[in-house]
Order: sequence, then C-alpha cells, then structure tokens
Amino acid sequence: APVIGVLALQGDVREHLIALAAADAVARPVRRPEELAEVDGLVIPGGESTTISKLAVLFGVMEPLRARVHAGMPVYGTCAGMIMLADKILDPRSGQETVGGIDMIVRRNAFGRQNESFEAAVDVRGIDGHPVEGVFIRAPWVESVGAGAEVLAEHGGHIVAVRQGNALATSFHPELTGDHRVHSLFVDMVHANRATES
Ligand code: GLN
Repeated sequence: APVIGVLALQGDVREHLIALAAADAVARPVRRPEELAEVDGLVIPGGESTTISKLAVLFGVMEPLRARVHAGMPVYGTCAGMIMLADKILDPRSGQETVGGIDMIVRRNAFGRQNESFEAAVDVRGIDGHPVEGVFIRAPWVESVGAGAEVLAEHGGHIVAVRQGNALATSFHPELTGDHRVHSLFVDMVHANRATES
C-alpha cells in the first residue's frame, strides 16, 4: 500500500489519517522534512491556512514541500489545504505563503461571509454514484483557474474542486463525512504515480 502523509502542523489531521486508512493507504503524520521525504503522497488538511503556512516555514518544511510538489508528488488539500495549493491567494494575510501547484486563484473565507458553515450535495467529476456530501466550513472558493487546471466540481456557481496533474484540492471536507470516495480517488492517484516512477 502507498504511504501517504498528512501535514500535521495544525488542522484536522486525525480525520484525514482515518479516512486514508479506510481508503487502504498507510497514513502517517508529517511535520519535518525527513518525514516528508518518506511518503509517496501528502494531504494538507483543513484548519487555518495562515497558521499552517507560518508553521510550515518555521518547521523548515515549506521549501521541501514546494520542491516535492513541483517534482510531481501527489498532493491533496482540503479547505485550508486547498488555499495552500493555490498559486495565488486573492486576499492573503501578511506573511501568508502558499506551496502552490495548482494554477488557480482562491478567495479565503468566501462562503463564510454568506454562511459560516453548511452542507451541500456536490457532484464531483471522477466520483461515481451519488453526489459527495460537501461539508463547507469558512470555506474558500476558486475565483478562476488557468489552462492547466481541471474543474472537478462547482457549487452555487463557484468552483469548489480542482485537479492539476497530481495535485487535487477541494473547498469542502470529505474527511468529516465517513464517505471515503474522494480519499480513494487520491489514493488511486498515488498508486498511478508510483507505477510511473518504478
Ligand atoms: N478559513 C480557513 C482559512 O482561511 C479555512 C477553513 C477550513 O479549513 N475549514 O484557512
């Protein structure tokens, strides 16, 4: 089974570890560059993107993370994690950096202004069967994507799931629902990437 890390600086790390294990991955927390070097893929959890960004710099993991994402390591970001994967944030806090990897512009707390937290059925391209239950918590949306990024889902006219190559991002939190299909999609991406590397 592929070894998939969860960036464990802040946020809902535990829920992702459980969801990844349920999707047949070996899941482990990642805080340091040495731990990052040992995983086949990485999840960046939901939480507070400003905090995750600052701690990533502090723990010396920001640059190695950028290097690995740039080199094609599969990565999946939920909510704050989506913000971390954006090449550009519309309204960054001062000092807020991203890993990048997806040619998109995100707006932080976009849904939050209208509605702090809500659930909605979301049709996600690549996920068969019934819609995914989207849990949105002070969620970002994607203002726009570049040519290389594929929109996988929209809600209320706003982009909420995007994939570019080996990078996947959702505004919502599948790790909170017990439905592991999005995590399974990501585990499949990690399998496929390992097959091309070996
Ligand atoms: N609003 C948070 C941020 O800007 C994201 C919220 C979440 O991850 N649930 O980072």
